[in-house]
Amino acid sequence: MEQLQMTRSTQLKTKPATDQLGFGRHFTDHMLLMDYSKGQGWHAPRIVPYGPLTLDPSAMVFHYGQEVFEGMKAYRTPQGEVVLFRPDMNLKRLNHSCERLSIPQVDEKALLDAIRQLIVLEKDWIPEGEGNSLYIRPFIIATEPGLGVRAAHDYLLLVILSPVGAYYSEGIHPVRIYVEDQYVRAVRGGTGEAKTSGNYASGIKAQEVAEGLGFSQVLWLDGVEHKYIEEVGSMNVFFKVNGEVITPALNGSILAGITRDSVIHMLKSWGVKVTERRISVEELYTAWQEGKLEEAFGTGTAAVISPIGFMKWEGHEMEINGGETGDYAKKLYDQLTGIQRGELDDPFSWRYVVR
Ligand SMILES: *Cc1c(COP(=O)(O)O)cnc(C)c1O
Repeated sequence: MEQLQMTRSTQLKTKPATDQLGFGRHFTDHMLLMDYSKGQGWHAPRIVPYGPLTLDPSAMVFHYGQEVFEGMKAYRTPQGEVVLFRPDMNLKRLNHSCERLSIPQVDEKALLDAIRQLIVLEKDWIPEGEGNSLYIRPFIIATEPGLGVRAAHDYLLLVILSPVGAYYSEGIHPVRIYVEDQYVRAVRGGTGEAKTSGNYASGIKAQEVAEGLGFSQVLWLDGVEHKYIEEVGSMNVFFKVNGEVITPALNGSILAGITRDSVIHMLKSWGVKVTERRISVEELYTAWQEGKLEEAFGTGTAAVISPIGFMKWEGHEMEINGGETGDYAKKLYDQLTGIQRGELDDPFSWRYVVR
């Protein structure tokens, strides 16, 4: 990749108060852009002041949704270093998503280095305070004008940064989940295992309905039989049944979460039996009836670990672990956030120091 060009903003923004960040509401002074054209490949990587884009109204992304994205976080350690968590995995997954959406592959190493330079420039935006971090959103859109349905020849890659608050301002607490039995998120052979906007667009309706009924997230079942558990909103999902931890196997319609992979490694290192397999909601309900469903939790970059205290499936209501955060969820949250923030040892070499 060519040398990165840098145009600095002449008017820096006022940073938001660290106790009022929320999620994705504020953006830093600069962003990273890179173009793709059929003749030149990926070219012209540049850091420029954050601001609106100019695109042709017929740009293909607006019509057929050819887009992929990623999400990761930068943290400040107690020693004052800036670290990312397994960013190589995010860039590998970005290319996997690109492959599925017929978007040209990016050079993972060069992109990570460009992101590193953007974070170095914006490091004062990494918010102080327990649980706060700088959210990193890389994404690629098809920019070629025209209404023909095919893979575009021109793309724009962007990376924007947003200081975000702790997901749980009062410590982790269990959420209420609605098992969705009407709408589906993805089917095998579809785009479920790609991180692409269309998967979210098709899920908004169900999320809205669930919220209206007093639930915070939807648990998706498989798109064919409406039987097997897939994932929760933008999180993978884990269940502790009779001492064993079970999570749906990556079957092509589930997103391969990096938090999911990390949690599996951690549980195994503690000697816990972890099984990746198909699990039906019926099986889960039976385990609950028999008193064997001991814990449920979601995993993802935003919340890290999200304990599930209550689930509703058709007419059945299940309170899990007395509606309280389970021991594994708590321990995983403490250890994983400790590793991510540089407060604990890094036995799996997951931290990447930005310097
Ligand atoms: C991003 C995402 C996840 C979680 O992945 P992480 O890498 O752990 O953040 C899970 N499910 C969906 C649908 C996602 O988009």
